[in-house]
This record gives sequence, C-alpha cells and structure tokens, in this order.
Amino acid sequence: MTEDRKVRVRFAPSPTGPLHMGGVRTALYNYLFAKKQGGDFILRIEDTDQTRYVEGAEDYIRESLEWCGILPNEGQGYCGDFGPYKQSERKDLGFYREYAEKLVAEDKAYYAFDTPEELDKMREDLKKAGVAAPQYNAITRGRMKNSTSLPADEVKERIENGDPYVIRIKIPRNEEIKFEDKIRGWVMVHSSNLDDKVLYKSDGMPTYHLANIVDDHMMKITHVIRGEEWLPSAPLHVLLYRYLGWEDEMPQFAHLPLLLKPDGNGKLSKRDGDRLGFPVFPLEWKDPSTGDISSGYREKGYFPEAFVNILSLLGWNPGTNQEIFSLEELVQEFSLERVGKAGAKYDPEKARWFNQQYLKEKDNSEIAEALLEREDLDEKARAKGKDYLAAVCGMMKERAVFLKDIPEEGYYFFEAPKSYDEKTVSKKWKADTPALMQEWISVLEGISDFKAANIESAIKSFMEEKGVGFGAILPPFRLLLSGTGMGPSLFEIAELLGKEECLNRMKDSMQKLPS
Ligand code: GLU
Repeated sequence: MTEDRKVRVRFAPSPTGPLHMGGVRTALYNYLFAKKQGGDFILRIEDTDQTRYVEGAEDYIRESLEWCGILPNEGQGYCGDFGPYKQSERKDLGFYREYAEKLVAEDKAYYAFDTPEELDKMREDLKKAGVAAPQYNAITRGRMKNSTSLPADEVKERIENGDPYVIRIKIPRNEEIKFEDKIRGWVMVHSSNLDDKVLYKSDGMPTYHLANIVDDHMMKITHVIRGEEWLPSAPLHVLLYRYLGWEDEMPQFAHLPLLLKPDGNGKLSKRDGDRLGFPVFPLEWKDPSTGDISSGYREKGYFPEAFVNILSLLGWNPGTNQEIFSLEELVQEFSLERVGKAGAKYDPEKARWFNQQYLKEKDNSEIAEALLEREDLDEKARAKGKDYLAAVCGMMKERAVFLKDIPEEGYYFFEAPKSYDEKTVSKKWKADTPALMQEWISVLEGISDFKAANIESAIKSFMEEKGVGFGAILPPFRLLLSGTGMGPSLFEIAELLGKEECLNRMKDSMQKLPS
C-alpha cells in the first residue's frame, strides 16, 4: 500500500522542554531511514497542548538537530510545500475542527459536556466498584453527558449557549484492532481496552491524537518511527485512520525500544544523569522559569559525531563488530529490521570511550584551533600559539577523552609542574636518585641538537654507563619535567619544551623534591 510512495518520515516533538537524548535518537533513526531511501525527513512541531508550551524549546530542538548534523529537509523552520509545520498555526486553517465535526456527523465521534468533577466522579465510582482502569467507553458513555446520551435538542441548546464541550472518538465496543509494527510484529488490542479519547478540546485545539493523524495524512507520511511510549496510542491512531477513510494510506509504524538506565532498571531519566554525572540532553538547557541549568553533551565536550554514533547503537545493531560509524556509514547500514524490541541500556563509560575514539582520529591542528576557540582555554596555553598547541595535542590526544582534558592534563606543557605525583615520588625517587639526576642534567646540557632521538640515545648511553635500567631513570626524569608519573613520550616532551626550559625545570624541581 505504501510501498511505491516516496518515503516521508517526520520527527514530531512537542516543545515542552529540552529534547531528551531519546528524542534525538528518534530523530536520528527517522533521518537514517529516510536518507537511505532517498526520502524526506520532516520536522513538525506538535504544540497542541498550550499549557505545556515552554519558551525556547522549539529553537532548542532545531539547534540540537543541527548540532548533530541530522538536518530536516522540510519542516518548521525549514522549507516545504506542506506547511505550516506547527500545529498551533495549522489549527487556524480550520481543518482539524472540520475533520472532528465530520466524524461527529458520521457517528464516529460525539460531543461531550462532562465537567472535570463529573469525570472524576465517574472514575471514582468505577474504582469503588472494582474497575481497575476506569474508562470513558461504550459501557460508561451512556451514563455521561454527551451527544450519544442526551436528547438532540438539549445538545443543540448547550452548544448554542456556549457550554464548554469536547469531541470524543466513539470507540467500538467489541472489536479487535490490529496492525503490523515494523519492530514488534503484529500488535493486537481489543477495543474494550481503549478509551473514548478526546479529539478536540474545549479550548479550541485539537488533541495530539487528532492533529497527529490528520497531519501525517496531509503531509503524506509513509512511516511513523517513534518511541515505545506511543505504542499504547497506536490502536487509537489505526482506528482514526479507518474512521477518516484513510486506511489505505496509513503509514507503517515502528515503535523504538526504550532507553534504559545504566543498570537496566527502568527508563533513563534526567535524575539518573544528575546522579551518575552524565547529561541526558544534547545541549545545555536553562529552564526559563526556574533558571536551573541542565548539562548537555555539547558543553560536556562530546563531539556531535561521537554523540550520534553513541545514539545509533542504542537500539540498532549493525550485525557486525563494527562500533565506529560516521553519519554517512549509518545511512548506508541502518535498517529498521535490525532495531530490537528490548530496551537499550545506556553506558556512560562507553559513551566516553566513543568520544575518545573520535578525538584520537582528529587532526592535531584542527584540535588546536578548536581549543583556541574556547573561552575557557588557559591563558598560558593560548600564549603558546597554534603550532605548539597542535604538537601538544598530537602527544596528548590518545590519552584524553575530551578536548579540554588536553590542556588540563597536559598543563605542564605550558608551565612548570605545580606538584609532584606522590605515588611516583615515594616509589621511584630513591636515595640515590638526586645524584643520578644531577649527572643526567649535565649530560642534557651537553646535547647541542635537542631532538627527541638525540635525547633518547643519550639516555641509553647514560644508562649503560651507570649500569641502571629505564625504571631508575625515566620516572624521576618525568617527575622533574612534568610532575607526573605517566604521560606521552618523555623525549618528545623534552624536545617540545626545549633545552633551556627543560634544564630550568629540572633544576628547579630538584629543589622541591627530596635531596
Ligand atoms: N508529539 C509527540 C511527541 O512529543 C510525537 C509522537 C509521534 O511521533 O507520533 O513525542
């Protein structure tokens, strides 16, 4: 039915706050699916719930997608022939209301006048009677105040009087609703488990359910790829397609698995991130009402390519051992058939590992430039200039996870050591070390071409002459230069620091370490 149509998918967030990383994953899978098949990826803003509208959330969504490089080729804030792409603006065109009224006219929906108190009472009464999940449905409908239970003239009068009312879908009493989900297979639900959901609200807005179906149809959406939390709504959506006479063009559904906490125990939430120290949002977010700041992957120092790579594997499995995928490779490899049903556990350590893999592959001068662009770069590092920084990056990038780790962990490239690693001092700075280091300093003083290779061969001859091994000389040498117990090649560090700086540091450090 939908096979020969151009693939069109949409990401349809509600601007109720910052986009969760699970939302970005949904956008990514939609993007990959569309791009692989030369289809369209559309951004639609679903803001029918005005009470939950959050200032800035819509821009945040676009900025997040742009940062990730998963750009909609159509939609709100982009171009396209099916706009507007924001439901509050679409509402003004009147068609949501028309479709809702059409359903009423065809006896597939009805007006309901119940007040919130009356609805609560109905639910309470049913609970008291032992009904676990009370519903407004074929059984209770007749007892409530609506156009199926009230006389026609009363309904007319109420509407003319301006009584508030909603339009509810009329769910059939005894019917099996089924559809094939591309990830979950056949899903079957009995209509008695469904509620007569509101389609049109008393505030003049359609609900998510109605607007979503009308828009997917009007925008010629072929596949609905969204989070598992929407699976319970899918039977209602299927019914709406049928009621509206659009069943033949109904999109195929694919409900993505949940993103789980690192221990697999439930859905990943902002609280888990706060507790375990990782972001759950792509970008930093400042809550407009409380001013609270939530951390973002971008600000933490993740590369967008790494973030996308991490998300790609939270639910999708390439079927090989390959872990590193560029966006282009993902477009080639991705398929919904390889998306699992089981929730995907988020592993913060693995996320760091991914960033490290990307950092290590970056060009040194590119990293140096990126560092120079950061306002928080230490002035001493900045003063050294791009070439020097690039050389430091070359040595440090293998050991760093984030860009900022390079100048932080390698601060000694820019200034003399501020402290000396205690463990190394206690293990490797022995009674005879100061004398040995004095002699080594004299050897270094004699090297005219202060290159790594020359320093290395000098150290080898020195070791032979003294009859000592690397363990006796390298750790103290490193302590004198950098104060650390570990790090990149000492010979390269020494060459980069230069002869004068090395000797000054070593002499100075000798004063600070036990004599
Ligand atoms: N507006 C819904 C959300 O916020 C979209 C669900 C769907 O994709 O149908 O997630």
